[in-house]
Amino acid sequence: MSNITIVGGGLVGSLLAIFLAKRGHNVSVFERRGDPRTTDVYAGRSINLVVSHRGWTSLRAAGVEEAVKEIVVPVYARMMHDRDGKLNRVPYSIDNRAIHSVSRGELNRRLLTEAEKLPNVKLHFNHRCADVHLDNATCTFHNDITGESAPVKADIVFGSDGAFSAVRQKMMQGRFTYSQEYIEHDYKEVAFPANPDGTPKMDPQCLHIWPRRYFMMMGLANQDGGFTGTLFMPNTSATVIPEAGRSKIVGPGHPESPQSIPGFDTVKTEAQVKAFFQEHFADSMTIVPDIVEQYLRNPQSSLAIIRCNPWTINGKVALIGDAAHAIIPFYGEGMNAGYEDCKVLNDLLNELGDDNWPAVLAAYGKARKPNGDAIADLSLRNFVEMRDLVADPKFLLRKKIEGHLQAKHPDQWLPLYSQVKFSDIQYKDAWREGLRHDRIMEEVLAMPGIEEKWESEEVERRVMELVSIAP
Ligand SMILES: Cc1cc2nc3c(=O)[nH]c(=O)nc-3n(C[C@H](O)[C@H](O)[C@H](O)COP(=O)(O)OP(=O)(O)OC[C@H]3O[C@@H](n4cnc5c(N)ncnc54)[C@H](O)[C@@H]3O)c2cc1C
Repeated sequence: MSNITIVGGGLVGSLLAIFLAKRGHNVSVFERRGDPRTTDVYAGRSINLVVSHRGWTSLRAAGVEEAVKEIVVPVYARMMHDRDGKLNRVPYSIDNRAIHSVSRGELNRRLLTEAEKLPNVKLHFNHRCADVHLDNATCTFHNDITGESAPVKADIVFGSDGAFSAVRQKMMQGRFTYSQEYIEHDYKEVAFPANPDGTPKMDPQCLHIWPRRYFMMMGLANQDGGFTGTLFMPNTSATVIPEAGRSKIVGPGHPESPQSIPGFDTVKTEAQVKAFFQEHFADSMTIVPDIVEQYLRNPQSSLAIIRCNPWTINGKVALIGDAAHAIIPFYGEGMNAGYEDCKVLNDLLNELGDDNWPAVLAAYGKARKPNGDAIADLSLRNFVEMRDLVADPKFLLRKKIEGHLQAKHPDQWLPLYSQVKFSDIQYKDAWREGLRHDRIMEEVLAMPGIEEKWESEEVERRVMELVSIAP
Protein backbone atom coordinates (compact mmCIF):
# COMPACT_ATOMS: atom_id res chain seq x y z
CA MET A 1 0.00 0.00 0.00
CA SER A 2 1.22 3.52 -0.75
CA ASN A 3 1.60 6.64 1.35
CA ILE A 4 -0.33 9.34 -0.46
CA THR A 5 -0.30 13.10 0.03
CA ILE A 6 -3.36 15.01 -1.17
CA VAL A 7 -2.76 18.76 -1.41
CA GLY A 8 -6.12 20.53 -0.97
CA GLY A 9 -9.10 19.19 0.98
CA GLY A 10 -11.80 20.92 -1.08
CA LEU A 11 -14.59 19.23 -2.99
CA VAL A 12 -12.36 16.97 -5.06
CA GLY A 13 -9.53 16.34 -2.58
CA SER A 14 -11.99 15.11 0.06
CA LEU A 15 -13.64 12.63 -2.34
CA LEU A 16 -10.27 11.45 -3.65
CA ALA A 17 -9.17 10.73 -0.07
CA ILE A 18 -12.21 8.48 0.39
CA PHE A 19 -11.57 6.56 -2.84
CA LEU A 20 -7.88 5.98 -2.08
CA ALA A 21 -8.29 5.15 1.60
CA LYS A 22 -11.00 2.60 0.80
CA ARG A 23 -8.40 0.85 -1.37
CA GLY A 24 -6.17 0.57 1.69
CA HIS A 25 -3.70 3.39 1.00
CA ASN A 26 -2.50 5.67 3.79
CA VAL A 27 -3.85 9.08 2.88
CA SER A 28 -2.82 12.45 4.33
CA VAL A 29 -4.82 15.49 3.24
CA PHE A 30 -3.22 18.92 3.71
CA GLU A 31 -5.62 21.85 3.45
CA ARG A 32 -4.54 25.50 3.51
CA ARG A 33 -7.69 26.72 5.25
CA GLY A 34 -9.13 25.86 8.64
CA ASP A 35 -11.53 22.96 9.15
CA PRO A 36 -14.84 24.11 7.54
CA ARG A 37 -16.73 22.07 10.16
CA THR A 38 -15.39 24.19 13.02
CA THR A 39 -14.47 27.49 11.37
CA ASP A 40 -16.51 29.59 8.97
CA VAL A 41 -14.21 29.31 5.96
CA TYR A 42 -17.15 29.66 3.59
CA ALA A 43 -18.35 32.91 5.21
CA GLY A 44 -19.75 35.43 2.76
CA ARG A 45 -19.72 32.88 -0.06
CA SER A 46 -22.99 31.06 -0.28
CA ILE A 47 -22.29 29.41 -3.62
CA ASN A 48 -24.32 26.36 -4.25
CA LEU A 49 -23.54 23.85 -6.94
CA VAL A 50 -25.29 21.40 -9.13
CA VAL A 51 -24.50 17.70 -8.82
CA SER A 52 -25.25 15.90 -12.07
CA HIS A 53 -25.49 12.26 -13.13
CA ARG A 54 -21.74 11.70 -13.48
CA GLY A 55 -21.14 13.33 -10.10
CA TRP A 56 -23.58 10.85 -8.58
CA THR A 57 -21.91 7.95 -10.39
CA SER A 58 -18.63 8.87 -8.69
CA LEU A 59 -20.17 9.53 -5.27
CA ARG A 60 -21.89 6.13 -5.48
CA ALA A 61 -18.64 4.41 -6.46
CA ALA A 62 -16.99 5.97 -3.39
CA GLY A 63 -19.87 4.78 -1.17
CA VAL A 64 -21.01 8.27 -0.12
CA GLU A 65 -24.06 8.80 -2.34
CA GLU A 66 -26.52 8.41 0.55
CA ALA A 67 -24.66 10.89 2.77
CA VAL A 68 -24.82 13.51 0.02
CA LYS A 69 -28.44 12.78 -0.97
CA GLU A 70 -29.55 14.09 2.42
CA ILE A 71 -28.39 17.62 1.63
CA VAL A 72 -29.56 18.21 -1.96
CA VAL A 73 -32.57 19.86 -3.60
CA PRO A 74 -33.76 18.35 -6.92
CA VAL A 75 -34.04 20.73 -9.88
CA TYR A 76 -36.14 19.58 -12.85
CA ALA A 77 -36.37 22.60 -15.14
CA ARG A 78 -35.13 26.02 -16.13
CA MET A 79 -37.49 28.84 -15.26
CA MET A 80 -36.90 31.85 -17.47
CA HIS A 81 -37.85 35.29 -16.14
CA ASP A 82 -38.39 37.90 -18.85
CA ARG A 83 -38.12 41.65 -18.29
CA ASP A 84 -41.86 41.91 -17.50
CA GLY A 85 -41.61 39.15 -14.91
CA LYS A 86 -43.34 36.60 -17.18
CA LEU A 87 -42.19 33.03 -16.53
CA ASN A 88 -41.44 30.22 -18.96
CA ARG A 89 -40.63 26.75 -17.60
CA VAL A 90 -38.49 24.48 -19.78
CA PRO A 91 -37.86 20.98 -18.35
CA TYR A 92 -34.32 19.63 -18.51
CA SER A 93 -35.39 16.30 -19.91
CA ILE A 94 -38.46 14.65 -21.37
CA ASP A 95 -38.44 11.96 -18.67
CA ASN A 96 -38.52 14.28 -15.67
CA ARG A 97 -34.91 13.80 -14.63
CA ALA A 98 -33.32 16.18 -12.15
CA ILE A 99 -29.99 17.74 -11.41
CA HIS A 100 -29.39 18.49 -7.72
CA SER A 101 -28.52 21.72 -5.96
CA VAL A 102 -26.22 21.52 -2.93
CA SER A 103 -24.40 24.00 -0.74
CA ARG A 104 -20.65 23.99 -1.46
CA GLY A 105 -19.77 24.29 2.23
CA GLU A 106 -22.21 21.61 3.33
CA LEU A 107 -20.95 19.16 0.69
CA ASN A 108 -17.32 19.77 1.66
CA ARG A 109 -18.14 19.24 5.35
CA ARG A 110 -19.99 15.98 4.60
CA LEU A 111 -17.16 14.54 2.53
CA LEU A 112 -14.51 15.49 5.10
CA THR A 113 -16.56 13.76 7.79
CA GLU A 114 -16.93 10.65 5.59
CA ALA A 115 -13.17 10.70 4.91
CA GLU A 116 -12.34 11.08 8.59
CA LYS A 117 -14.38 7.97 9.44
CA LEU A 118 -11.69 5.93 7.65
CA PRO A 119 -8.79 5.05 9.98
CA ASN A 120 -6.16 5.47 7.26
CA VAL A 121 -7.10 9.10 6.45
CA LYS A 122 -5.39 11.95 8.30
CA LEU A 123 -6.67 15.51 7.76
CA HIS A 124 -4.29 18.42 8.38
CA PHE A 125 -5.92 21.85 8.28
CA ASN A 126 -4.13 25.22 8.16
CA HIS A 127 -1.34 23.52 6.20
CA ARG A 128 -0.34 25.34 3.04
CA CYS A 129 1.75 23.58 0.45
CA ALA A 130 4.75 25.84 -0.11
CA ASP A 131 6.92 23.56 -2.24
CA VAL A 132 6.92 20.18 -3.99
CA HIS A 133 9.85 18.01 -4.99
CA LEU A 134 8.48 16.36 -8.06
CA ASP A 135 11.17 13.68 -8.29
CA ASN A 136 10.70 12.25 -4.79
CA ALA A 137 7.07 13.20 -4.00
CA THR A 138 8.03 15.40 -1.05
CA CYS A 139 5.95 18.46 -0.22
CA THR A 140 6.83 21.22 2.22
CA PHE A 141 3.86 22.40 4.25
CA HIS A 142 3.68 25.63 6.17
CA ASN A 143 1.54 25.46 9.29
CA ASP A 144 -0.28 28.79 9.44
CA ILE A 145 -1.07 28.38 13.17
CA THR A 146 2.42 27.53 14.48
CA GLY A 147 4.33 29.32 11.72
CA GLU A 148 6.48 26.22 11.19
CA SER A 149 7.31 24.48 7.92
CA ALA A 150 8.12 20.79 7.49
CA PRO A 151 8.72 18.38 4.60
CA VAL A 152 6.39 15.41 4.12
CA LYS A 153 7.62 12.55 1.96
CA ALA A 154 5.12 10.27 0.24
CA ASP A 155 5.02 7.72 -2.57
CA ILE A 156 2.45 9.70 -4.55
CA VAL A 157 1.26 13.32 -4.48
CA PHE A 158 -2.09 14.54 -5.83
CA GLY A 159 -2.58 18.25 -6.39
CA SER A 160 -6.28 18.88 -5.80
CA ASP A 161 -5.52 22.43 -4.76
CA GLY A 162 -7.82 24.19 -7.15
CA ALA A 163 -7.53 26.64 -10.02
CA PHE A 164 -4.40 28.34 -8.67
CA SER A 165 -2.67 25.11 -7.70
CA ALA A 166 0.72 25.24 -5.98
CA VAL A 167 1.50 21.74 -7.26
CA ARG A 168 0.81 22.82 -10.84
CA GLN A 169 2.90 25.94 -10.27
CA LYS A 170 5.83 23.69 -9.48
CA MET A 171 5.20 21.49 -12.54
CA MET A 172 5.29 24.63 -14.68
CA GLN A 173 8.99 24.99 -13.99
CA GLY A 174 9.59 22.04 -16.32
CA ARG A 175 8.37 21.07 -19.77
CA PHE A 176 4.74 22.05 -19.31
CA THR A 177 2.03 23.63 -21.47
CA TYR A 178 -0.30 26.07 -19.78
CA SER A 179 -2.99 28.57 -20.69
CA GLN A 180 -5.17 30.81 -18.56
CA GLU A 181 -8.00 32.74 -20.16
CA TYR A 182 -10.21 35.17 -18.30
CA ILE A 183 -13.63 35.67 -19.83
CA GLU A 184 -15.04 39.18 -20.00
CA HIS A 185 -17.76 38.34 -17.49
CA ASP A 186 -17.31 38.51 -13.72
CA TYR A 187 -19.92 37.49 -11.16
CA LYS A 188 -21.44 38.64 -7.92
CA GLU A 189 -23.68 36.67 -5.57
CA VAL A 190 -26.84 37.78 -3.83
CA ALA A 191 -28.84 35.77 -1.30
CA PHE A 192 -32.56 35.35 -2.06
CA PRO A 193 -34.35 34.94 1.28
CA ALA A 194 -37.17 32.49 2.03
CA ASN A 195 -40.59 33.71 3.21
CA PRO A 196 -40.79 34.35 6.98
CA ASP A 197 -42.38 30.89 7.44
CA GLY A 198 -39.44 29.26 5.64
CA THR A 199 -41.28 28.52 2.39
CA PRO A 200 -39.50 29.43 -0.85
CA LYS A 201 -40.50 32.58 -2.76
CA MET A 202 -39.87 30.89 -6.14
CA ASP A 203 -40.28 27.32 -7.37
CA PRO A 204 -37.31 25.55 -5.72
CA GLN A 205 -37.38 22.73 -8.26
CA CYS A 206 -36.28 25.07 -11.04
CA LEU A 207 -33.02 26.79 -11.89
CA HIS A 208 -34.21 30.38 -12.32
CA ILE A 209 -32.62 32.34 -15.14
CA TRP A 210 -32.98 35.97 -16.09
CA PRO A 211 -31.33 35.89 -19.55
CA ARG A 212 -30.59 39.37 -20.84
CA ARG A 213 -28.58 38.46 -23.90
CA TYR A 214 -25.15 39.77 -22.85
CA PHE A 215 -25.55 39.35 -19.12
CA MET A 216 -27.75 37.26 -16.90
CA MET A 217 -28.74 36.35 -13.39
CA MET A 218 -29.51 32.88 -12.11
CA GLY A 219 -30.98 31.52 -8.88
CA LEU A 220 -30.45 28.05 -7.44
CA ALA A 221 -32.40 26.72 -4.45
CA ASN A 222 -30.89 26.11 -1.02
CA GLN A 223 -32.31 23.64 1.48
CA ASP A 224 -33.48 26.48 3.78
CA GLY A 225 -36.05 27.78 1.26
CA GLY A 226 -33.78 30.57 0.03
CA PHE A 227 -31.84 30.77 -3.22
CA THR A 228 -28.31 31.75 -4.15
CA GLY A 229 -28.53 34.31 -6.94
CA THR A 230 -25.55 34.95 -9.19
CA LEU A 231 -25.29 37.90 -11.53
CA PHE A 232 -22.91 37.41 -14.47
CA MET A 233 -21.99 40.59 -16.30
CA PRO A 234 -19.01 41.99 -18.21
CA ASN A 235 -16.40 43.57 -15.99
CA THR A 236 -16.14 46.52 -18.32
CA SER A 237 -19.15 48.14 -19.89
CA ALA A 238 -18.90 47.43 -23.58
CA THR A 239 -20.74 47.57 -26.80
CA VAL A 240 -21.78 44.41 -28.56
CA ILE A 241 -22.66 43.35 -32.04
CA PRO A 242 -25.03 40.45 -32.48
CA GLU A 243 -23.31 37.90 -34.66
CA ALA A 244 -25.26 34.95 -36.07
CA GLY A 245 -27.00 34.22 -32.79
CA ARG A 246 -23.77 34.64 -30.85
CA SER A 247 -22.40 37.80 -29.34
CA LYS A 248 -19.13 39.51 -29.96
CA ILE A 249 -18.06 42.14 -27.50
CA VAL A 250 -16.20 45.10 -28.95
CA GLY A 251 -14.86 48.31 -27.48
CA PRO A 252 -16.95 51.47 -27.06
CA GLY A 253 -17.45 53.58 -30.15
CA HIS A 254 -17.41 50.66 -32.60
CA PRO A 255 -18.78 51.83 -35.97
CA GLU A 256 -21.19 48.93 -36.56
CA SER A 257 -24.15 50.62 -34.77
CA PRO A 258 -23.59 48.72 -31.55
CA GLN A 259 -25.94 48.41 -28.64
CA SER A 260 -24.63 49.45 -25.23
CA ILE A 261 -24.54 46.93 -22.44
CA PRO A 262 -23.86 47.48 -18.76
CA GLY A 263 -20.75 46.33 -16.96
CA PHE A 264 -19.69 46.16 -13.32
CA ASP A 265 -17.70 49.34 -13.98
CA THR A 266 -20.82 51.35 -14.83
CA VAL A 267 -23.15 49.82 -12.23
CA LYS A 268 -21.43 51.12 -9.12
CA THR A 269 -23.29 53.77 -7.20
CA GLU A 270 -26.49 53.12 -5.28
CA ALA A 271 -28.49 55.04 -7.86
CA GLN A 272 -26.91 53.13 -10.76
CA VAL A 273 -27.49 49.77 -9.11
CA LYS A 274 -31.12 50.57 -8.33
CA ALA A 275 -31.78 51.76 -11.89
CA PHE A 276 -30.03 48.67 -13.26
CA PHE A 277 -32.17 46.20 -11.30
CA GLN A 278 -35.33 48.19 -12.00
CA GLU A 279 -34.66 48.07 -15.73
CA HIS A 280 -33.45 44.48 -16.11
CA PHE A 281 -34.52 42.39 -13.11
CA ALA A 282 -37.54 44.22 -11.68
CA ASP A 283 -39.24 41.06 -10.37
CA SER A 284 -36.15 40.14 -8.33
CA MET A 285 -36.45 43.41 -6.39
CA THR A 286 -39.70 42.28 -4.77
CA ILE A 287 -38.22 38.88 -3.94
CA VAL A 288 -34.95 40.33 -2.57
CA PRO A 289 -35.81 43.68 -0.95
CA ASP A 290 -32.14 44.42 -0.12
CA ILE A 291 -30.74 43.39 -3.49
CA VAL A 292 -29.15 46.82 -4.04
CA GLU A 293 -27.38 46.75 -0.64
CA GLN A 294 -26.18 43.19 -1.25
CA TYR A 295 -24.85 44.12 -4.67
CA LEU A 296 -22.91 47.04 -3.21
CA ARG A 297 -21.59 44.94 -0.32
CA ASN A 298 -20.70 41.62 -1.96
CA PRO A 299 -17.41 40.97 -3.75
CA GLN A 300 -17.04 40.76 -7.51
CA SER A 301 -15.21 37.63 -8.70
CA SER A 302 -13.65 36.71 -12.01
CA LEU A 303 -13.88 33.53 -14.08
CA ALA A 304 -10.96 31.83 -15.81
CA ILE A 305 -10.43 28.78 -17.98
CA ILE A 306 -7.19 26.98 -17.24
CA ARG A 307 -5.82 24.25 -19.47
CA CYS A 308 -2.54 22.46 -18.96
CA ASN A 309 -0.55 19.46 -20.04
CA PRO A 310 0.72 17.02 -18.79
CA TRP A 311 -1.43 16.31 -15.74
CA THR A 312 1.08 13.86 -14.26
CA ILE A 313 4.82 13.80 -13.86
CA ASN A 314 7.49 11.23 -12.93
CA GLY A 315 4.83 8.59 -12.23
CA LYS A 316 4.54 10.17 -8.75
CA VAL A 317 2.67 13.47 -8.98
CA ALA A 318 -0.72 14.18 -10.55
CA LEU A 319 -3.20 17.04 -10.87
CA ILE A 320 -6.90 16.45 -10.35
CA GLY A 321 -10.05 18.61 -10.32
CA ASP A 322 -9.72 22.35 -10.95
CA ALA A 323 -5.95 22.13 -10.59
CA ALA A 324 -5.96 20.22 -13.88
CA HIS A 325 -8.97 21.83 -15.58
CA ALA A 326 -10.55 25.02 -14.27
CA ILE A 327 -13.58 25.88 -16.37
CA ILE A 328 -16.30 28.50 -16.36
CA PRO A 329 -19.40 27.44 -14.42
CA PHE A 330 -22.10 27.59 -17.11
CA TYR A 331 -22.62 23.87 -17.47
CA GLY A 332 -22.31 23.39 -13.72
CA GLU A 333 -19.79 20.62 -14.36
CA GLY A 334 -16.46 21.71 -12.82
CA MET A 335 -16.89 19.67 -9.66
CA ASN A 336 -18.68 16.86 -11.50
CA ALA A 337 -15.73 16.62 -13.88
CA GLY A 338 -13.37 16.50 -10.88
CA TYR A 339 -15.47 13.73 -9.33
CA GLU A 340 -15.32 11.82 -12.59
CA ASP A 341 -11.50 12.22 -12.53
CA CYS A 342 -11.53 10.41 -9.16
CA LYS A 343 -13.73 7.58 -10.43
CA VAL A 344 -11.65 7.08 -13.60
CA LEU A 345 -8.51 6.93 -11.45
CA ASN A 346 -10.17 4.37 -9.19
CA ASP A 347 -11.22 2.28 -12.23
CA LEU A 348 -7.63 2.38 -13.54
CA LEU A 349 -6.31 1.23 -10.17
CA ASN A 350 -8.76 -1.69 -10.39
CA GLU A 351 -7.53 -2.48 -13.86
CA LEU A 352 -3.79 -1.92 -13.57
CA GLY A 353 -3.16 -2.55 -9.89
CA ASP A 354 -2.39 -0.44 -6.83
CA ASP A 355 1.35 -1.07 -7.10
CA ASN A 356 1.64 0.18 -10.66
CA TRP A 357 1.38 3.95 -10.18
CA PRO A 358 3.44 5.09 -13.19
CA ALA A 359 1.16 3.15 -15.56
CA VAL A 360 -2.00 4.20 -13.69
CA LEU A 361 -1.09 7.90 -13.70
CA ALA A 362 -0.05 7.83 -17.36
CA ALA A 363 -3.37 6.19 -18.31
CA TYR A 364 -5.28 8.64 -16.10
CA GLY A 365 -3.74 11.70 -17.78
CA LYS A 366 -4.31 10.24 -21.24
CA ALA A 367 -7.94 9.39 -20.50
CA ARG A 368 -8.93 12.63 -18.79
CA LYS A 369 -7.07 15.46 -20.52
CA PRO A 370 -9.23 15.38 -23.72
CA ASN A 371 -12.33 15.34 -21.52
CA GLY A 372 -11.07 18.32 -19.51
CA ASP A 373 -10.63 20.24 -22.75
CA ALA A 374 -14.06 19.19 -24.01
CA ILE A 375 -15.95 20.29 -20.90
CA ALA A 376 -14.12 23.64 -21.04
CA ASP A 377 -15.43 24.11 -24.60
CA LEU A 378 -18.89 22.84 -23.71
CA SER A 379 -19.08 25.31 -20.81
CA LEU A 380 -18.25 28.23 -23.07
CA ARG A 381 -21.00 27.11 -25.41
CA ASN A 382 -23.54 26.82 -22.61
CA PHE A 383 -22.66 30.33 -21.44
CA VAL A 384 -23.97 31.72 -24.73
CA GLU A 385 -26.98 29.42 -24.49
CA MET A 386 -27.94 30.48 -20.97
CA ARG A 387 -27.55 34.21 -21.19
CA ASP A 388 -28.60 34.67 -24.78
CA LEU A 389 -30.26 31.81 -26.63
CA VAL A 390 -32.74 30.68 -23.97
CA ALA A 391 -34.67 33.83 -24.82
CA ASP A 392 -34.48 33.13 -28.56
CA PRO A 393 -37.65 31.60 -30.17
CA LYS A 394 -35.53 29.58 -32.66
CA PHE A 395 -33.58 28.04 -29.79
CA LEU A 396 -36.79 27.18 -27.93
CA LEU A 397 -38.19 25.60 -31.11
CA ARG A 398 -35.01 23.54 -31.45
CA LYS A 399 -35.41 22.32 -27.86
CA LYS A 400 -38.99 21.23 -28.64
CA ILE A 401 -37.91 19.38 -31.79
CA GLU A 402 -35.10 17.66 -29.93
CA GLY A 403 -37.43 16.60 -27.12
CA HIS A 404 -39.86 15.20 -29.68
CA LEU A 405 -37.07 13.29 -31.45
CA GLN A 406 -35.71 11.93 -28.20
CA ALA A 407 -39.17 10.67 -27.23
CA LYS A 408 -39.65 8.91 -30.56
CA HIS A 409 -36.07 7.75 -31.18
CA PRO A 410 -34.33 7.52 -27.80
CA ASP A 411 -31.56 5.34 -29.27
CA GLN A 412 -30.75 7.81 -32.00
CA TRP A 413 -31.22 11.23 -30.47
CA LEU A 414 -29.98 12.23 -27.03
CA PRO A 415 -29.81 16.05 -26.77
CA LEU A 416 -26.39 17.46 -25.87
CA TYR A 417 -27.59 18.74 -22.50
CA SER A 418 -28.77 15.23 -21.55
CA GLN A 419 -25.46 13.73 -22.70
CA VAL A 420 -23.57 16.09 -20.41
CA LYS A 421 -25.88 16.19 -17.39
CA PHE A 422 -27.77 12.88 -17.47
CA SER A 423 -25.27 10.35 -18.80
CA ASP A 424 -21.73 9.09 -18.35
CA ILE A 425 -20.91 9.66 -22.03
CA GLN A 426 -17.41 11.06 -22.15
CA TYR A 427 -17.39 14.85 -22.51
CA LYS A 428 -15.22 14.59 -25.61
CA ASP A 429 -17.76 12.31 -27.32
CA ALA A 430 -20.67 14.50 -26.22
CA TRP A 431 -18.91 17.56 -27.65
CA ARG A 432 -18.35 15.86 -31.02
CA GLU A 433 -21.96 14.64 -31.11
CA GLY A 434 -23.23 18.09 -30.10
CA LEU A 435 -21.47 19.68 -33.07
CA ARG A 436 -23.06 17.06 -35.34
CA HIS A 437 -26.47 17.86 -33.85
CA ASP A 438 -25.85 21.56 -34.60
CA ARG A 439 -25.24 20.78 -38.26
CA ILE A 440 -28.39 18.65 -38.49
CA MET A 441 -30.57 21.15 -36.63
CA GLU A 442 -29.34 24.02 -38.78
CA GLU A 443 -30.80 22.23 -41.82
CA VAL A 444 -33.99 21.31 -40.01
CA LEU A 445 -34.64 24.83 -38.70
CA ALA A 446 -34.17 26.16 -42.23
CA MET A 447 -37.04 24.00 -43.56
CA PRO A 448 -39.90 26.22 -44.80
CA GLY A 449 -42.79 26.34 -42.32
CA ILE A 450 -40.81 24.56 -39.57
CA GLU A 451 -42.59 26.60 -36.87
CA GLU A 452 -45.91 24.92 -37.78
CA LYS A 453 -44.77 21.45 -38.81
CA TRP A 454 -42.03 20.67 -36.28
CA GLU A 455 -43.94 17.63 -34.99
CA SER A 456 -44.72 16.27 -38.46
CA GLU A 457 -43.53 12.99 -39.97
CA GLU A 458 -41.84 14.95 -42.74
CA VAL A 459 -39.52 16.67 -40.25
CA GLU A 460 -38.90 13.44 -38.37
CA ARG A 461 -38.02 11.62 -41.62
CA ARG A 462 -35.64 14.41 -42.64
CA VAL A 463 -33.86 14.32 -39.29
CA MET A 464 -33.44 10.55 -39.38
CA GLU A 465 -32.09 10.83 -42.92
CA LEU A 466 -29.56 13.41 -41.75
CA VAL A 467 -28.68 11.33 -38.67
CA SER A 468 -27.77 8.43 -40.91
CA ILE A 469 -25.61 10.47 -43.28
CA ALA A 470 -24.28 13.48 -41.35
CA PRO A 471 -20.58 13.10 -40.55
C1 LIG B 1 -19.87 30.59 -9.47
C2 LIG B 1 -19.48 29.14 -9.62
C3 LIG B 1 -20.47 28.18 -9.75
C4 LIG B 1 -20.13 26.83 -9.90
N1 LIG B 1 -21.12 25.91 -10.06
C5 LIG B 1 -20.81 24.61 -10.24
C6 LIG B 1 -21.84 23.64 -10.37
O1 LIG B 1 -23.03 23.94 -10.34
N2 LIG B 1 -21.48 22.33 -10.54
C7 LIG B 1 -20.17 21.94 -10.60
O2 LIG B 1 -19.92 20.75 -10.79
N3 LIG B 1 -19.18 22.85 -10.47
C8 LIG B 1 -19.46 24.16 -10.29
N4 LIG B 1 -18.46 25.08 -10.12
C9 LIG B 1 -17.06 24.62 -10.18
C10 LIG B 1 -16.62 24.04 -8.86
O3 LIG B 1 -16.72 25.01 -7.84
C11 LIG B 1 -15.17 23.57 -8.97
O4 LIG B 1 -15.00 22.80 -10.13
C12 LIG B 1 -14.79 22.74 -7.75
O5 LIG B 1 -14.84 23.54 -6.59
C13 LIG B 1 -13.40 22.16 -7.93
O6 LIG B 1 -13.05 21.47 -6.77
P1 LIG B 1 -11.51 21.31 -6.39
O7 LIG B 1 -11.50 20.54 -5.12
O8 LIG B 1 -10.75 20.82 -7.55
O9 LIG B 1 -11.01 22.79 -6.14
P2 LIG B 1 -11.47 23.82 -4.91
O10 LIG B 1 -12.88 23.58 -4.64
O11 LIG B 1 -10.98 25.11 -5.36
O12 LIG B 1 -10.61 23.24 -3.71
C14 LIG B 1 -9.22 23.41 -3.66
C15 LIG B 1 -8.80 23.33 -2.20
O13 LIG B 1 -7.38 23.41 -2.14
C16 LIG B 1 -7.01 24.31 -1.10
N5 LIG B 1 -5.69 24.85 -1.44
C17 LIG B 1 -5.40 25.74 -2.41
N6 LIG B 1 -4.07 25.98 -2.42
C18 LIG B 1 -3.52 25.21 -1.46
C19 LIG B 1 -2.18 25.02 -1.00
N7 LIG B 1 -1.15 25.67 -1.55
N8 LIG B 1 -1.97 24.15 0.02
C20 LIG B 1 -3.01 23.46 0.58
N9 LIG B 1 -4.29 23.62 0.19
C21 LIG B 1 -4.55 24.48 -0.83
C22 LIG B 1 -8.11 25.34 -1.07
O14 LIG B 1 -8.18 26.02 0.16
C23 LIG B 1 -9.34 24.49 -1.37
O15 LIG B 1 -9.93 23.98 -0.19
C24 LIG B 1 -18.77 26.44 -9.94
C25 LIG B 1 -17.77 27.40 -9.79
C26 LIG B 1 -18.12 28.74 -9.63
C27 LIG B 1 -17.03 29.75 -9.49
